[in-house]
Amino acid sequence: MIELNPCPFCKSSETYVSPNRCNARIHSYSLNHYYDLIKGNITFTGNSEEEVKSFWNYEMDKNAYD
Ligand SMILES: [Zn+2]
Repeated sequence: MIELNPCPFCKSSETYVSPNRCNARIHSYSLNHYYDLIKGNITFTGNSEEEVKSFWNYEMDKNAYD
């Protein structure tokens, strides 16, 4: 199980990964992150839970140290 990094911008942990189902079968996963301040969100979809979580962690790491 991959732990999600906190967002470096808003420090929020309001990040959720949920499966997208099609006729009871999971065909993809969506990650949603909600900002506290600007009332927006980041969302993207991948083939697996690990994929969306790794992508989130990679992106947050990149932004944290830029
Ligand atoms: Zn954030």
